[in-house]
Amino acid sequence: MKLADRVQRITESPTMAVNAKASSMKAAGIDVIDFSAGEPDFPTPQNVKEAGIAAIRNNFTKYTPAAGVRKLRELVANRYQQKYGQTFRAEEVILTSGAKQALFNLVMSLVQDGDDVLIPEPYWVTFPDQVKVCGGTPVFVPTKEEDGFALDASEVEKKLTSRTRMLILNSPNNPSGAVITRKTMSALLDLCVKNNIAILFDETYDCFVFPPYEHTSPLHFYPKGRDLTFIVNTFSKTYSMTGWRLGYALGPAEVISACDKLQSHTTSNPPSISQMAAVQAIEGDQSSVGIMYAEYEKRRNFVAEALGRMPRIHCNQPQGAFFVFPDFSAYLSREVPDSVALCKLLLDKCHVATVPGSAFGMEGHLRISYATSIENLQEGCRRIQSFLESM
Ligand code: PLP
Repeated sequence: MKLADRVQRITESPTMAVNAKASSMKAAGIDVIDFSAGEPDFPTPQNVKEAGIAAIRNNFTKYTPAAGVRKLRELVANRYQQKYGQTFRAEEVILTSGAKQALFNLVMSLVQDGDDVLIPEPYWVTFPDQVKVCGGTPVFVPTKEEDGFALDASEVEKKLTSRTRMLILNSPNNPSGAVITRKTMSALLDLCVKNNIAILFDETYDCFVFPPYEHTSPLHFYPKGRDLTFIVNTFSKTYSMTGWRLGYALGPAEVISACDKLQSHTTSNPPSISQMAAVQAIEGDQSSVGIMYAEYEKRRNFVAEALGRMPRIHCNQPQGAFFVFPDFSAYLSREVPDSVALCKLLLDKCHVATVPGSAFGMEGHLRISYATSIENLQEGCRRIQSFLESM
């Protein structure tokens, strides 16, 4: 059967592919240290789990409105109202099956054939493929490791054409951990307002930004850019709820309503049970977020230092999220030509799972997730170092 062009334009998520191979090795009894995970290693907080169980007991197990229950849409709007001192309405929020669906709804609603979408490199793997499915062309904006992967507004400006429709920003960044500064965000916003370009701001890791860095959103400049700014966030990372599939988008009501229409014909509402759990996540005790934050910061310090001490590896200290993105290019050669080959070697020879930098648009790097215990980080770094010494 001939596949439609739109699926032939994309590839399977490479992070999922590594994950699958590492999982099958683990299932075969091999002691794999898994640095490929893109999800917290903490359980969902108990109060959130209880709220999900209560939803089942109370038979809150049926369809809800496609955009989600009004109470949770209001709570999300309030969260942003409290944070940024601006008024947001429930109609400006749609609840989705994870941030992934929020992003997809927005790209589907705003991007069409012939549109260019600017995406800074390194990027989260899903951004370019979603753009391609929707007929757009991803246009990459480079950043440099020596600048801490900081995005430069003048580099974005260089890529603008009459076809540019959208700029996708992700801060803190997966995989680099880079956080966009106030100054850069202000310059990017000016650029987008002047050229009528939508900003799709993915702040999935907003609760995990380490001092002295601070999370900056386009909403800090509200109402500037009000009609072109779209925020995407999720319960997946902040509350360790990846499997519950609940995220959201916030933006101008007209576009949110287009997303609602689309969602009503694709998945309908995100899980009703997860929505009740998310009400508790927002309203309830937040101490679990602080515990995860402190743990990630400790692990980040450990792993960045351990990798930085290894010969011929550059490792920036990430500013947020839970990934490091060190440069291993000194270890590439004719026999090990790229990051995919290096990644395979590390998995096969020392049973450490990482993700190749090429998946994120930056060859020579590997993404290492520190959403795992310090003991695993110690053992994984030890294995990597002894393997590199033997190369
Ligand atoms: N955006 C970024 C930058 C991510 O890293 C991820 C998950 O890894 C997502 C979105 C997707 O999150 P969700 O589980 O809510 O779909």
